[in-house]
Order: sequence, then structure tokens, then C-alpha cells
Amino acid sequence: MPKLVTLALLLLVAVSPAHGEWVRVSGTAMTTEIDMEYWAADPEAAEQAGEAVLELFRQIDRQMTRYQDDSELSRLNRRAAREPVKVSDSLFQVLQRAVEVSELSQGAFDISFGSVGYFYDFREKRQPTGEELAAGLPSVNYRSIVLDPDARTVRFLDEGIRLDLGGIAKGYAVDRGIAILESFGIRNARLSAGGDMRLLGDRRGKPWIVGIRDPRSENRNALVMPLADVAVSTSGDYERFFTDESGERIHHILSPATGKPARGVQSVTVLGSDTLTTDGLSTAVFVLGAAEGLALINSLPGVDAVIIDEKRQVHYSEGLMPPGD
Ligand code: ADP
Ligand code: MG
Repeated sequence: MPKLVTLALLLLVAVSPAHGEWVRVSGTAMTTEIDMEYWAADPEAAEQAGEAVLELFRQIDRQMTRYQDDSELSRLNRRAAREPVKVSDSLFQVLQRAVEVSELSQGAFDISFGSVGYFYDFREKRQPTGEELAAGLPSVNYRSIVLDPDARTVRFLDEGIRLDLGGIAKGYAVDRGIAILESFGIRNARLSAGGDMRLLGDRRGKPWIVGIRDPRSENRNALVMPLADVAVSTSGDYERFFTDESGERIHHILSPATGKPARGVQSVTVLGSDTLTTDGLSTAVFVLGAAEGLALINSLPGVDAVIIDEKRQVHYSEGLMPPGD
């Protein structure tokens, strides 16, 4: 009975222990905890892949941070109001997507918020004075960032512009990190960097279980989702904040219209196909609030969101709701 023999052999292959192992690698970069978990069939990949990803994060941070004068971004901030500045492919790609998310969100997402954003220091509990806000706000306008894709140059139409990529650079790094893991032959992975996460494949036959934190309780999940092959970014008002004299929560997601922390929601989680997009969108939707934010998400194919508002009510985008009639 050759057919049965073949079947038996196939079953044997299926149940015999696969060669490989789950590998866990963590480190710190971009002032966040980077954590990854992947199935490595090849022992060499097990050792090198994670280290290569951490090195990539450090390299992107050196390039895109505003906290160091010699980063590519700082150089751009100093010069682009005077002349078009040629930038690297990677920085250009991040800037392009940032401006696209600004357009989609009608300016709720705006990387030019730096002219007021730089006055916040969450560790020192410092926020801009009335004068600093008044002086900086007119320069918050993504329309003053002129990108020339052919020359790959960037020019500012306003001298006061200061870019800050804190709302999108990590998402870019996570996408690139996943590409590195794939180049090592890895097919099942989770790569997390603070609030940004991308899942490659599933957990070998099972979904990954992803929790959305309760915004007001560090060790409690508000909900969990079984997921595979997806990008997930969360923006929350609990990541970096302090409470000022009047008892207000001063957190790190700012409304470009007022220069002050956006109100109305506590956390936004966006699901999509790449973290460059979901990172920008989660910040954008946070600023837009539940109603406008969901309208934006529902207009984008392949993108979903879970929003926890200030009353702790949970809102889901259409793609996450049971099919109705
Ligand atoms: P996290 O950095 O915790 O992952 P987000 O992705 O929501 O969270 O990004 C928040 C960061 O985005 C802020 O720390 C700041 O650097 C930047 N940011 C704040 N407000 C805006 C905004 N309106 N548009 C673009 N970037 C913003
Ligand atoms: Mg973001």
C-alpha cells in the first residue's frame, strides 16, 4: 500500500521535533526597550540576527535623533531654511511618509511641532511658557516642509521650523528590523520597540497574543488580541508625562493647533501592514480623538484601530467589528 506508506512518512516528518529554537533578544535604543522573539532554524541566525537588529536601531537613532547636534536630522534642522539639503534615502523615506500622514490627518500629525515641542521636558516637569508657545506655534506647519524626490532634498519655507521624528522613526526602525530578521531566513518573529510592534508570520501554528495596556494601570491589559503578520502601534498619554501644579496631565502627544497635550483619549492602537505607517497614524488618531480618528481609519484600506477614550470606553474600527447586517 504505497499510499499509506507515504502518508505515514509525511506524518512522521510533521510530528518529529523541528530543528530550531525560540530566541529572545532585548536591548535599549532610541530611549526605549527593544525586545524580539523569533524562531531560528539556523543556529547562526539565532546568534547574529538579534544583534544586527539592535545595531540597526542604534544607527537609525544616531541619524534621526534631535537630541544630538551631529545627527542627520539636526543638520537638516540647522540648514534647510537657507538651502535645499540633500538627505539619505532612509531619512527621506521617513519624511515623505510623515508628510503623507499629515495630509491624511489634516495636520493632526505634524513633525514640525518641534518649535513648541522642544520646550517640553517630561523629566524636568517643564512645559512652554505662554510666550514660548506664542513664538513657536506659527512655525508648526508641515506645509513648510518641501520635499524634492528627484533631487532627494529637503527645504523649509520657514526659519523657525524644527523637526522631531519621535512619532514615526521607531516605526521605521521596526520595519527595517523585520527585514533584517527575514534576511537571516527567519519566518516567525515578534519585534517590539516601546509602543511599536511588528509580527512576522505566526507563533508556529498559533497566533501571537498581543495585549493593549490599560492606560491607567501598568500591569493590566485592557484587552488582548490574537494576531499574525501585522504591524501594531500604540500611542498613550502614559508613556511620558507629569502632573502640573493645577493637576493636569502634561503628556507627550501634542496638538499642533495649540501646542498643548491632546485631550479626549488615553490610548490609540493602530493595526496595519507596516509600522512606519501605524506609528504615524497612532499619533495622528490620538490627536484627532475618537470620532474623527475612527473616520480616518475607516477610510483607509487594511488599517484598523482600537481607541480607549478618556471615559475608558473602547472604540473599534469597522474592520474589527463583527459582520453586521
Ligand atoms: P511613543 O514614542 O511612546 O511610541 P508615539 O508614537 O505616540 O509614542 O509618539 C509620541 C512622540 O511623537 C512624542 O514623544 C513626540 O516626539 C512626537 N509627537 C508628539 N505630538 C506629535 C504630533 N502631533 N505629530 C507628530 N509627532 C508628534
Ligand atoms: Mg506614533
